[in-house]
Amino acid sequence: MPIQLTTLSQSSLQDYNDCPRRFELRYLQQLAYPAIETEPALENEKHQREGEYFHRLVQQYFIGIPAGKISRLANTETLQRWWENFINFQDLAGLQDLSGLKTEITLSAPLGAFRLIAKYDLIASDGNKFFIYDWKTYRKRPRTEWLAVRWQTRVYRALLVQAGAHLNGGAPIQPEQVEMIYWFSEFPNDPARFPYQAEQFKRDWDALTRLAEEIKSASDYPKTDDTTKCLYCPYRSYCNRGSRAGDALDAELETEAEELFDINFEQIGEIEF
Ligand code: SF4
Repeated sequence: MPIQLTTLSQSSLQDYNDCPRRFELRYLQQLAYPAIETEPALENEKHQREGEYFHRLVQQYFIGIPAGKISRLANTETLQRWWENFINFQDLAGLQDLSGLKTEITLSAPLGAFRLIAKYDLIASDGNKFFIYDWKTYRKRPRTEWLAVRWQTRVYRALLVQAGAHLNGGAPIQPEQVEMIYWFSEFPNDPARFPYQAEQFKRDWDALTRLAEEIKSASDYPKTDDTTKCLYCPYRSYCNRGSRAGDALDAELETEAEELFDINFEQIGEIEF
């Protein structure tokens, strides 16, 4: 029995965009993953766990736990490398001077019949500009053009404009005040930066509104025509789209999904409009 969906996130929107059938299976039917997403499975699982752990280490850093203490918790070779890359990240010194640091903050705003929700790794402000940082532990640096069109890049900036006034002393945040930065733990000197403009915000919010209407009125959820999407998809066995898993390095870009159900709804800050 499909559930009544009340929230949308960058992951569910990306899934709907990539394959409506995957959106249906993951978010409406909430099916557990029946197939291994990628090969080699164990190695990939370890990488995923290290990625989650790394996010926790960074969060502890921003709530004021000394770097030396956290370093001792980075207890694998990979975590040590990421941690060293992180503390040597040139923006970090500047970030510590900023007063408005919000880590692991969740924002939400109404979007048609839904609420749009996003959980941010870090929002930093110098009192004028707002910098959205997202830590990525990809083994392969994605192309900047690929990131530019991802729903995460569009949703995170648009939602900060739409629902972030309480971070700006109650005044609306203008698109030009916002910049999103993906920092890659394996490629520390090559972050991807995305400033924002009023016309981009308008385009994004209009597109989000249209997509929410489409999802609300959808009655069927076709499988994607692009079968390369199926290579990394955990629902392959439901769709007769092959049993062999795709390559892990490509898959981590294609199937990354934040755990919507982890979001603590009491932490959500929002501005009604
Ligand atoms: S296997 Fe392919 S068609 Fe089926 S849900 Fe996944 S991406 Fe969609």
